[in-house]
Amino acid sequence: MEDKITFIKDGIRLDGRRVDEARPIKVEVGVLARADGSCYLEMGNNKVIAAVYGPREVHPRHLQEVSRAIVRYRYNMASFSVEERRRPGPDRRSYELSKVSREALSPVILTSYFPRSVIDIFVEVLQADAGTRTAGINAASVALADAGIPMKSLISSCAAGKVDDQIVLDPMKEEDNFGQADMPIAMTPGGEITLLQMDGHMTVEESHRAMELAMKGCRDIYNMQRKVLIDRYSQMENATRQEEAVI
Ligand code: ADP
Repeated sequence: MEDKITFIKDGIRLDGRRVDEARPIKVEVGVLARADGSCYLEMGNNKVIAAVYGPREVHPRHLQEVSRAIVRYRYNMASFSVEERRRPGPDRRSYELSKVSREALSPVILTSYFPRSVIDIFVEVLQADAGTRTAGINAASVALADAGIPMKSLISSCAAGKVDDQIVLDPMKEEDNFGQADMPIAMTPGGEITLLQMDGHMTVEESHRAMELAMKGCRDIYNMQRKVLIDRYSQMENATRQEEAVI
């Protein structure tokens, strides 16, 4: 008897999506009063929150850079974010994800404007369903913009995967855990890639197709990130105008 999972039937995936369809996304900006910038983001069943503090003084001081700000990124998965309670605290995986996420965002941050300071990015995963690094990077990018950190552009992130020998956009947990490959990327709206990782096996042709699909996912996410930021700042602008009119 064959116990292999069938991921795609008549072109439709286990959760009802087509192969080139991403999970629904929800983005809210400015959700934390005490952070300089913040964002709550859902990508399917992933729920993450990003908080940005700074630019501010660096502690410990020996980490200071004389010509630029340093960027720190802490990715943390809540113990209740996965099916079986996760042991709290950092582990090898969270160190790796913090590093690659920081490197995905750093190229667009204009750190030379803030010598000797630090920009701290905290990402908390509240609910995980595969693709938490991409959700975290998307939220962090919006939170950085919300904090008023000067950047060359936003960064958008999405993965493509391989299941049942087909390339799919934005794999969810079952596809990620039991599929053949997972390839998360991050990029600028201009198409500059700032993160590229891959687990599993793909042919060269499949990796090209996965890259194309993940880039399409990033472009769609970028449009959403941009829209929430424009909506938020036009609301703030209108509120300021109304206040000025009263005065
Ligand atoms: P990403 O979340 O960026 O896809 P991984 O590929 O490492 O990163 O993880 C895939 C998924 O596996 C996570 O989103 C989560 O649902 C699950 N997972 C990861 N680490 C754990 C863990 N320690 N305990 C339970 N589930 C985990």
